[in-house]
Amino acid sequence: SIVVIGSLNMDMVVRAERAPEAGETLFGQGFALSPGGKGANQAVAAARLGADVTMIGRVGKDAFGNGLLEIMQQEQIHTEYISRSESQATGVASIVVDGAGENRIIVVPGANVEMTPEDIEALEFVIAQARIVVMQLETDLAMCGAAAAIASRHGIPVILNPAPARPLGDELLRHVTYLTPNETEAGILAGITVESIDDAERAARILLQKGVQHIIVTLGSKGALIVNAAGSLHVPGFPVHAVDTVAAGDSFNGALAWQLTRGKTLDEAVRFANAVGALAVGKAGAISSLPRLDEVEQFLQQ
Ligand code: ADP
Repeated sequence: SIVVIGSLNMDMVVRAERAPEAGETLFGQGFALSPGGKGANQAVAAARLGADVTMIGRVGKDAFGNGLLEIMQQEQIHTEYISRSESQATGVASIVVDGAGENRIIVVPGANVEMTPEDIEALEFVIAQARIVVMQLETDLAMCGAAAAIASRHGIPVILNPAPARPLGDELLRHVTYLTPNETEAGILAGITVESIDDAERAARILLQKGVQHIIVTLGSKGALIVNAAGSLHVPGFPVHAVDTVAAGDSFNGALAWQLTRGKTLDEAVRFANAVGALAVGKAGAISSLPRLDEVEQFLQQ
């Protein structure tokens, strides 16, 4: 199975003509509560394609935590290793979308960042039975490092989606099989500016030297670039009318993981993940935009 270790958030989205000033109260035009967090999104992306997914994470003992567990279960994801915090609230993102479509977001990670290296070591037996482990950076960095080390000790491949970008130690990178930054994240991790596919390749080569086996830089509408010891390959994206790029990267990572557990080559897996990413940007929302396998197959036949 695929083991996703990551965040679960409840997104609270308010629509208003403009954001309020300090001390001001405004009436808004709409409100929506939607499940999110990169971990949850990636778990659902893989599960919708038919993957057997186990999620490791933490939520609070509150209504949002109950809601997230229920949603994950509806998606056929194994939730028995999503623990409940005694003291922290479920992670939330408070999002104001103004009349121009501009976002202002505050994330309170809460229970997501409470899991420690010791907590993940207690779940070694879950990681040990995985076909692949998928992680992002919305949880505690030391916990991620411990998880990657456990996977590596058991010979299990690790996909790390380094989002949101933050500096990573070489020790963690050495245990990463597939690193999947977007262009901005690749630039931050490598310490250079990435504005073109050539720059992305330069950044990837720097990261390769830190011991990562394969770098897959996602390039938005341009698809993705694979860089490894064998060389580099640009896998073009699929042209679509982009409605909302939320969860593009998450859908890409979930799809990549599933394809790799199905024994596909990395080139094939990235092409398929590009199709899933394109379908996700063609629809509004995060989890609501993630396609099912039949939609992807139909899209690839066109
Ligand atoms: P992130 O959402 O993390 O910033 P990207 O923007 O690179 O990541 O998107 C991830 C993947 O989603 C891309 O590699 C591509 O496959 C797909 N994708 C994103 N934007 C588009 C687009 N406008 N048209 C087609 N595919 C897209």
